Amino acid sequence: MKRTAARHVAVIGGGPAGLMAAERVSAQGIDVTVFDAMPSVGRKFLLAGRGGLNLTHSEPLDAFLTRYGTRAAELAPMIEAFGPAALRDWAASLGIDTFVGSSGRVFPTEMKAAPLLRAWLARLRSQGVKFAVRHRWQGWVDTAPTQILRFSTREGERYAEADAVILALGGGSWAKLGSDGAWVDLLRARGVDIADLRPANCGFDVSTDFATDTANANKGWSTHFLERFAGAPIKSVAARCTDPHGHEHTRSGECMISPTGIEGGLIYALSAPLRDSLHASGKATLHLDLAPGRSLERLVADLSRPRGSRSLASHLQGQAGIKGVKAGLLRECLPAAALNDPAQLATAIKALPLRLIAPRPLDEAISSAGGVRFEDTLDGTMLRALPGVFCAGEMLDWEAPTGGYLLTACLASGHAAGLRTIDWLNTH
Ligand SMILES: Cc1cc2nc3c(=O)[nH]c(=O)nc-3n(C[C@H](O)[C@H](O)[C@H](O)COP(=O)(O)OP(=O)(O)OC[C@H]3O[C@@H](n4cnc5c(N)ncnc54)[C@H](O)[C@@H]3O)c2cc1C
Repeated sequence: MKRTAARHVAVIGGGPAGLMAAERVSAQGIDVTVFDAMPSVGRKFLLAGRGGLNLTHSEPLDAFLTRYGTRAAELAPMIEAFGPAALRDWAASLGIDTFVGSSGRVFPTEMKAAPLLRAWLARLRSQGVKFAVRHRWQGWVDTAPTQILRFSTREGERYAEADAVILALGGGSWAKLGSDGAWVDLLRARGVDIADLRPANCGFDVSTDFATDTANANKGWSTHFLERFAGAPIKSVAARCTDPHGHEHTRSGECMISPTGIEGGLIYALSAPLRDSLHASGKATLHLDLAPGRSLERLVADLSRPRGSRSLASHLQGQAGIKGVKAGLLRECLPAAALNDPAQLATAIKALPLRLIAPRPLDEAISSAGGVRFEDTLDGTMLRALPGVFCAGEMLDWEAPTGGYLLTACLASGHAAGLRTIDWLNTH
């Protein structure tokens, strides 16, 4: 293979992190090729657009950074350099206006990803970026002095040479969109320290069987309950759980009955402590407050009023405002004696224990926890084990709730990986 004098950077993975890295590097006149296993780039980004494309969040930066939990310190310099405000300016520079929704979340005015991606790809092409799709990266033939990369394509195995490589291969969810986590073994084989990929922002399987151990507990809801409530939203609830370190987490919002358990925004927000509890002890209990606006005392008093000939359903609705799926949940989870005892019923309305037995599989999750450990990188991007190889996006070991924090960190780390790659090329 012949070397050319011009520097060439291979970006592998054409999601938001890889495209941002390609934009930064190509803006310096450096030759960039974006390789992707799929027939087109940005597929998960387009899927995110179906939910309106929550690009970032408008809260103050110090609060924003806390969303990255134990990895806030590592991501802070990247997000300070390319954070929510810079991201909105960048979108505007592509002709995409954004607005702040009532929850503080930031969306493109059109609530779509396709116009942004189209404008972005046009900019990248105008900066000279080349795209090699249907190129599945399979590792290296050689890593020094230049890197010779191996790809499988429809025409068989192909090789590409690069002076620096930016990996932006995503996590392990929604494999059919391209990010299948197969890179984990390729990098581990090269001595890179990687935390196992785990589901983040995910739903959970439940069991209404509290008597049996987790491994043997019956999964899911009764047929009767599912027939009536599968897919039903549970609105205006609060949820509480305890993480393996004994810290309590509470959130309010909305969730939904899934075929085997529970999912939705409220559950995603608590999914990290719930997942970690299941991992640590095999147990996790989610307590749902079905009437956050009412105190326990008031509920006990209201439910103690004589029921007369009224059914339990109309008593619950009339005295406690509990109906539909909330009433169904109480029937599903409580023994008859508790349903007929005002004190026990009120206690369950305020803290209905749901036994979770497993997170839903990684492939179904919104995002992945785990990935390349920051400790194994220089400046959070270049692999210590492989000089000249940089990482960006969800494949790095951080996690965050939904709310625009995922895309912001992907774009910020892509920006950082691009700039560090330029620095590295200038000094090597
Ligand atoms: C349903 C859904 C909705 C979402 N909505 C939002 C939202 O509104 N806001 C938000 O902030 N986040 C959202 N996210 C999360 C967000 O989309 C991801 O965090 C983000 O796309 C990750 O970007 P990335 O560039 O790191 O990886 P990805 O977008 O996953 O891109 C990785 C790329 O690498 C390629 N690739 C992988 N392996 C190989 C290989 N071996 N060879 C070549 N190419 C390879 C893949 O084909 C893919 O194109 C959502 C996710 C889902 C699933």
